[in-house]
Order: sequence, then structure tokens, then C-alpha cells
Amino acid sequence: MKIYTSRVPPQPIANESIFSRMFPERDPFPSSGPAFIDADTGKSITRGELKSLALELAWGLQHKLPKLGAVHLKRGDTVMIFSPNSIAWPIALHGSIAAGLRVTLANSAYTPAELAFQLTDSQAKLVFVHPSLVPTLIQTFKVLKIDASEAAKKVVVLGWGLQEKGPGGLVQVEELLGHGALRKEEKFEGKQANETVLLCYSSGTTGKPKGVETTHKNLTSVASIVKPVFPSIVPGKDVFIGVLPFYHIYGVVKLLIFPFVNGAPVVLLQRFEPVAFCKTIETYKVTVGLIVPPILVVLARHPAASQFNLRSLRLLFSGAAPLGAPLVKAVSDRLKSFGNETVITQGYGLTETSPTSHLLPPDDAIRKVGSIGILLPNLEARLVVDDVRDAKKGEPGEIWLRGPTIMKGYLNNSTATKNSITPDGFFKTGDVAIIDDEGFFMIVDRQKELIKYKGFQVPPAELESLLLQHDDIADAGVIGVESIAEATELPRAYVVHAKGLTTDAEKKEFGLSVQKWIQERVAKHKFLRGGVAVIDVIPKSASGKILRRELRDRAKQELQQE
Ligand code: AMP
Repeated sequence: MKIYTSRVPPQPIANESIFSRMFPERDPFPSSGPAFIDADTGKSITRGELKSLALELAWGLQHKLPKLGAVHLKRGDTVMIFSPNSIAWPIALHGSIAAGLRVTLANSAYTPAELAFQLTDSQAKLVFVHPSLVPTLIQTFKVLKIDASEAAKKVVVLGWGLQEKGPGGLVQVEELLGHGALRKEEKFEGKQANETVLLCYSSGTTGKPKGVETTHKNLTSVASIVKPVFPSIVPGKDVFIGVLPFYHIYGVVKLLIFPFVNGAPVVLLQRFEPVAFCKTIETYKVTVGLIVPPILVVLARHPAASQFNLRSLRLLFSGAAPLGAPLVKAVSDRLKSFGNETVITQGYGLTETSPTSHLLPPDDAIRKVGSIGILLPNLEARLVVDDVRDAKKGEPGEIWLRGPTIMKGYLNNSTATKNSITPDGFFKTGDVAIIDDEGFFMIVDRQKELIKYKGFQVPPAELESLLLQHDDIADAGVIGVESIAEATELPRAYVVHAKGLTTDAEKKEFGLSVQKWIQERVAKHKFLRGGVAVIDVIPKSASGKILRRELRDRAKQELQQE
């Protein structure tokens, strides 16, 4: 069996909690330094404040919450955060962790039906909700047939640091703060490092979203193994821009944990908008941008990039989706014309691998452009063909990974866990790569069903089962089509009309109506932006599996003709 290891020596990994890793007894950096700054409001929170507020919240969750008539939480229970980025977000996360709770992170664009699924599946007992999302949450409880008085016991409004506080009658996070604090996190022993602390949702290689059990050890390990390959961070000088959503594993690790443990503040934005993004870089002299490829498209073309001074930017690090050489070159050329010397590099990983497993070292960013880089230390990789044999030299194979950052498994889904982790501990990524003689990996294909729209997961199975609820649809298959202009994939559906349609005009009109129908039911990133085509039959294998490659080939031809 051919097993690849990293050229970087293994890093020490302690059996500690992510809370003690983030907040050791003595902060190695000045505790009066900023930890998070909200670019919209200008409000900030220092490192010391974050620690004490998290411990106050932990105390409030244990002792104050029940007195306010809300739920009783016990160690190991799950709470949910349903909020766009805000400075209260890390308080809710670390406060819950300090109280010995697990945290499930929900996409803030979710519809009530999508949120209801995650609430039920994760068995979250309490939801921290941003004031603007209270109406969606109330609708979600209605979908779940939970009556209003029961629902109110399960909500804490996360308005801290914001003007908007949310409706009365619900517990506000402020009520849980300032009344006392745990002296330190809930009792934690080394073996508890293997307990689940985060539940992000991922569809994996197939099917609907599943709760990914990320442990304390997964999180402390990733912070340790990324460090020697990531460009060194200068405390007091480096500033990160936090535009990626905190609810995605990439945001949690690269914005909520990694900058903090390395002494750098994060200036956060609620959403990506070109002018605000460039203005924030200028105002806060941002040096590090953790981004996804579509943001690079904006930096390559949008007028905002030339209206602001972006010269402080020394590193742009892309992840969560494929990044090709032409886009890197376009951004690099434009930034050079402004006098920038920004390094553009990328990393690769999955929710299930906490997330980063590969990183392109900045020194190799130009020479190896297009590659996802080298394997991080403490990890082992295989390239496997047809689930059975090693890929030969130069031959593409599925990346299998083993090491301390691999998830514990999928929540309450032993079948999916068994299908994705081999008995000897290798996790099957569903991504196909080649490796060169110097140990650089290059992704060449994705053999799993997943579609990625601007870094967000779009599980085809979810859209297909929704399409089948449409009265006029007899069968459906969803695939991703590439948009070079937007540097992303776009979900595209093939549907069979229940009664059959004959003319092209009828088919076109039906396709448009289905696109609209879907828009009323799912979060924005799942819209069928790649179109809806009506066909006679969805191609399937003898066992009934959708032949997605056939649909992808068909889409390529159709879109070329358009
Ligand atoms: P998620 O679990 O949402 O982080 O999605 C993980 C998937 O995103 C991977 O399995 C890949 O298909 C894709 N991905 C992440 N990073 C990269 C990258 N640098 N290049 C190509 N695909 C990537």
C-alpha cells in the first residue's frame, strides 16, 4: 500500500480542549489587543474581553438560563448558532464550549424548512439567533409544530454589540452576561479531547446533509499542523479580514481559531460586497485575506479594487473550491499594477477534515500555481483507484486521508460513517488528484455528487427530492456546470415532465417556472442558476443510480450551443 506523508515533520498535539488552547491561563499576547472588530459598526472586542465574556456566558447558560424560564442544559447537550458574522458570534461559540456544550452551526441564509431539518437532526436544545433572523426561527418552530411558549424557552437573541436587540419576551444574551463567571471552563480531562464539540453539516460523498462530528482534538490539531506551512503571522502587525461565514468550518478554523491563537485580530463583515470589502482593507490596513475564488474574480475586475488602497494586503489565501492558474494570474497582475506584492495561494480540505489537509506554501505559490500544495504534517494520504488499488505514478486517484484532524464520524449515521471511513482509518474525500515528484497535489476531478456554489455546498440529493415534490415533475437529476466568469459551479437540473411536453417553447417555459419554484423553497446558494432542462428520461445505471457524468457531458454540449 502506498502511503504519502508530509515533508514537514510531525507537530506535537496535546490532549487539551479547544477552549484551553484558545485561552491558556496566561495569554501569550497582550490581552488588551483587539480580537474581533465589526467593520460595519466599528465595535470591537479585546482578547481579554472575549475570554471573560465567554466564561460569563458559560456561567449564565448553566445558572441563569433556567431561572429565566428557559431550557436546562447539561454537559454534552447541543446548542445552535444561527447568525451572520458578528462580534457576539465568538462569545456564543466559546461560551457554549466552556460550559461543556456541543455547538451546531447553521447557514444564516437557511429557510425555515432547511433550518428545521438541522434543528431536528442535531437535537439542538437552544438556538442563539441574530435579531434579524428571529422571524425565520419563529417560522421554523411553526414548521416543527412547537408551540410559541415552548419555542420561547429555546431561544437566546444574540444582539450583543448591535443596535437591534430583537423582540421582547425572548432571552437576550446580555441577560446571561455579567452575573458571574466560571473560573475556568467546565471540568475537562485529556480523554475528553476526543469528544465532539462542533457539528457542521456536510453531504459528504452522497445524499443529504449530515452532522459532522468534529472533536476538540480535531480543532487543536488543525491549528498546530497548519502553522508550519501557513505564512508566518506577525502579532501586532497582521490583520485578517473575516468575510467568510463563521458557520462554515473554514470560517470557524481560519477566522475564529487560527488568527486568535497566533495573536492577530479579525475585522469581520456580515457578507461579501465588493465596495465594503475593499474599503475595509483600506480602513483597517488588512494584511491577510482568507477568501474563496469568486472574491478573486471581483479583485480581478471590479472597479472597487482600484478605488481603495489595497497595498497593505500581503496574502490572499483561497479555499473551499477549485482555484485555477488563469484567475490567480489575473488578480496578481491587477494588484501588481497598484504596487501590491500580494502572495496568492490556496489550501484544500473538507468539513470532515477540520478542514485543511493541504496547503500551497507561499514560496511555491507561483511555481506550483493551480496545485492545492503539500500534505500537512501528522497526516497520511493515499491516492486510490476504484476503491481498491493505489494509483500508479502520474495516475489520478481518489484522495484518502488519515490523521488527527479527521472527524469522528457522521452524527447518528453509522452507515454513512462506515461508507466514508475505512476500517484502517482512511477517510474517502471523493476528490480525485494526481501527485507530482515533489509531493504537490493537483485536484483533477470530483467523483462525489457534491456541487459547490461559491464555496457553499449544494447537495444534489436535496434538490432532487425537493423537485420530486413538484406536482408536474416525474423524475429529476441535478448536476453542477462550470461558470468560468464567476469562478464557480452552478446547479443545473434535468427534469422529466409528468405528462410530457412536446414543444421547445413549452419546455423552456416549464424550466423557468421550476427555477422560480425552487427559489421560493431553498437558501440562495442552492438556486438553479445553471438552468432547468426538460428531458424524456434521467439516465440511470442498472441499480438506479443517476449517471451524473452523462448529464454533465450533455450539459457541456447544450451550454456550448446556447
Ligand atoms: P466543504 O466540506 O464544504 O469544505 O467542501 C469540501 C469540498 O470542497 C472538497 O471535497 C472539494 O471538492 C472542494 N474543495 C475545497 N478546497 C478545494 C480546493 N482548493 N480545490 C478544489 N476543490 C476544493
